[in-house]
Amino acid sequence: MLKTDPEICAILPELLLPWYEKNKRDLPWRENTDPYRVLVSEIMLQQTRVEAAKEHYLNFIAALPTVEALAACPKDKLFKLWEGLGYYSRAENLQKAAKQIVAAGGFPRTFEGLRALSGVGVYTAGAIASIAFSLPAPAVDGNVVRVLSRLFGDEREQAVLRSEYTERLAPVYPPQTGDFTQSLMELGATVCTPRSPKCVLCPLFAHCRTKSDALPKRKAKTAKKKSDVTVYLLLTPKGVALERRKEGVLKGMWQFPNDERAVTEEELPARLAEMGIASFTILPPRTHRHVFTHLEWNMTAYPVKTDSAPPRFCYFSAEDIEKNAALPSAFRWCLPLVEEKNRR
Ligand code: SF4
Repeated sequence: MLKTDPEICAILPELLLPWYEKNKRDLPWRENTDPYRVLVSEIMLQQTRVEAAKEHYLNFIAALPTVEALAACPKDKLFKLWEGLGYYSRAENLQKAAKQIVAAGGFPRTFEGLRALSGVGVYTAGAIASIAFSLPAPAVDGNVVRVLSRLFGDEREQAVLRSEYTERLAPVYPPQTGDFTQSLMELGATVCTPRSPKCVLCPLFAHCRTKSDALPKRKAKTAKKKSDVTVYLLLTPKGVALERRKEGVLKGMWQFPNDERAVTEEELPARLAEMGIASFTILPPRTHRHVFTHLEWNMTAYPVKTDSAPPRFCYFSAEDIEKNAALPSAFRWCLPLVEEKNRR
């Protein structure tokens, strides 16, 4: 006889825990359940794939092994450690959370206390609470919604399901809270994948009402906003000019001076003069397309050799940038143009 939704929910731990024990991946943040490590890994994984996050995580923990070290870390070093992960506001929030934890004398040990930390939402608070503090707090992200909506054959909106599944899972949590949380995440990541799920390998197969990738219903994709960006690589005797980005996407990060519009070669001299660049040689430009989640930049970078070094900018060698400045990937592709061999 077919089981009801609550009956299926109740047997999830017995279906998933043995499967997880046998099939879990060996990931660096699973070495132990230290709350600091769980916090760092969960924030990193919010917008970064597991494979891409692994090395960054190891470097980050090696450089900042404790919550105190993170709280005291200079911002430039923090951004440098975050380089390549994108969404730098995550790093800022992570440091704010570390400062809150240090000021309070330690990690909060309740779901509500964790939820109050900067950058920690319901999902992340649930993950830390269940993995590090053995609390029966579900962590329902898009992966888990996908697994459960297929299991229950539920076609409703993801946003509704997220809070409903959080409520449904809480009472069935077994004593192995962290393993149960991670078993759901692991099933979503490795078996019940967005496309072509491996249903024949799934421990939930016998009870699943979908057995395919027909759910959740996909939303029509909204078109990305596109804009032109003109980048000025000002190659001066002091180094190449960088400035902090004042607004919009990547706010606070280093960038090469630029305009968020297409500037023609004819317009360039006037634009350079506005920046305080008196005499210059413009070298052949290079183009690049950089894609953010909701935005696309069609970029043109002009290397400009000049003896002027206006004080409004900071100056770095290409080597300095590699070592000390966190330059977002939207601008990193320009670095080869900055190196000496390309200036001749
Ligand atoms: S049987 Fe298939 S669709 Fe159902 S939960 Fe398992 S992997 Fe997902």
